[in-house]
Amino acid sequence: MEIKNFINNQEMIPLSGMWLDNYEPASGTVYGDIPNSNEDDVEKAYQAAAAAFPSWSTTTIDERSKIMLRIADLIEENLEELATAESRDNGKPLWLAKAVDIPRASSNFRFYGNAITQYASKSHESVGKNTINYTLRKPIGVVGCISPWNLPLYLFSWKIAPAIAAGNCVVAKPSEVTPATAYLLGKIVKKAGLPAGVLNIVHGNGASCGQAIVAHPHIKAISFTGGTTTGAHIARTAAPMFKKLSLELGGKNPNLIFADCDYDKMLDTTVRSSFANQGQICLCGSRIFVQQEIYERFKKDFVDRVKDLRVGHPEQSSTKVGAVVSAIHREKIEEYLAFAKAEPKSYTILTGGNRVTVANFENGYYLEPTVIEVSSNDCKLNQEEIFGPVVTIMPFKDEAHALELANGTKYGLSATLWTNDLSRTMRMTQEIDAGIVWVNTWLNRDLRTPFGGVKDSGVGREGGFEALDFFTEPKNVCIEY
Ligand code: NAD
Repeated sequence: MEIKNFINNQEMIPLSGMWLDNYEPASGTVYGDIPNSNEDDVEKAYQAAAAAFPSWSTTTIDERSKIMLRIADLIEENLEELATAESRDNGKPLWLAKAVDIPRASSNFRFYGNAITQYASKSHESVGKNTINYTLRKPIGVVGCISPWNLPLYLFSWKIAPAIAAGNCVVAKPSEVTPATAYLLGKIVKKAGLPAGVLNIVHGNGASCGQAIVAHPHIKAISFTGGTTTGAHIARTAAPMFKKLSLELGGKNPNLIFADCDYDKMLDTTVRSSFANQGQICLCGSRIFVQQEIYERFKKDFVDRVKDLRVGHPEQSSTKVGAVVSAIHREKIEEYLAFAKAEPKSYTILTGGNRVTVANFENGYYLEPTVIEVSSNDCKLNQEEIFGPVVTIMPFKDEAHALELANGTKYGLSATLWTNDLSRTMRMTQEIDAGIVWVNTWLNRDLRTPFGGVKDSGVGREGGFEALDFFTEPKNVCIEY
């Protein structure tokens, strides 16, 4: 696939003249080029967005909504092509891209196409003062959206949809590791009738293209999803420029499993929450804590189930675990595995820990799903985000111990609690440091709810009206009569 930038509804080769190789994780081969855009490309995208803003920001809500619903429909109509591209670019099982990634990208546009019709200004009557205040929500102008590789179109559209629904124009950059579906989205928005310049997509790496978006003096808000270190770097650049910032960052999510839970449902879900998308979902539960009474039973059943997960080529329907996203990422995960192997007193590898060779695709980036028993939550593998098919397990004594373990990291994105005790549920959900807590379920999403993390997992919330609030600036008007 030949990927180009999408600026002013035109496909463009990069002004930088630079290109990057695009790899297919399943085979480890280069299968295309992507632009490595620089500040000239970002400036061109910005100019297109700025020129489109006066018209788009005053386009009626009905018209904006209609276009967004058309985009949603077109994504659905092109599900096969988009899912195939996503799976090829990322290494995720094709069935997963068809069932989750692409339908969710369509839902993002449909959700915000509808939500904007329900988003309203507020008014406050100052009783006894002959005064009324009303608060307008004005689009910000040109905004930047930067997304990661793990759920490429899903997370790209999760930012773009509320931004354009609210009347902004966008300069967006997908991950350079997974550019394909963002490129295809350009064709779709044009076909849906989105006016030129409303969405501009520039490709390239973080240091040149991403940095140019963040540092651009007139791009007034940055919505970023990615690693915590990158988020901190972005904040260092953008905060002194007084940009609005939404940062969705890394996680090290706990799974707290109590003896009174619905065991079978918990076991099925925990296998999924550990290894879905090769463990490369920011919401995956990577630290599993199990109440002592059922620890040995869980350990045996869980490890048996994980051993049965088939690692294979993403296109095969029997594949449960595909390829991880890149050679560099596989090496990073393997460094953690090597560290665990070198410290047998702290780590016991219960299953996995090695590369997998898939017939005919020997150079693909495959890894065994891995379960490691740890004796302390303070260890490296429990404190650092691995973001691959690796989970740790350890027992806990009681509720207080479970809470201490859950909160014992610098991250606070999500947590999953397995219990049928209502009082415990109420107590624990109050105390867990996380932006999202699931009880007896996982990755159960209602797009109206706030999404985001606390501590080093980020600043701000996406989802529902929260994202529309982020992508608008409130202006209060106070009238005395
Ligand atoms: P990353 O931080 O390396 O890259 C994310 C994006 O930022 C990419 O598009 C990259 O090109 C860009 N980027 C890199 N350096 C930049 C810079 N200096 N300026 C501007 N942009 C820059 O993250 P990744 O490896 O692509 O994704 C994995 C990470 O994302 C994990 O830490 C994961 O937890 C996190 N994540 C978080 C959420 C969430 O909702 N909290 C969701 C998915 C992934």
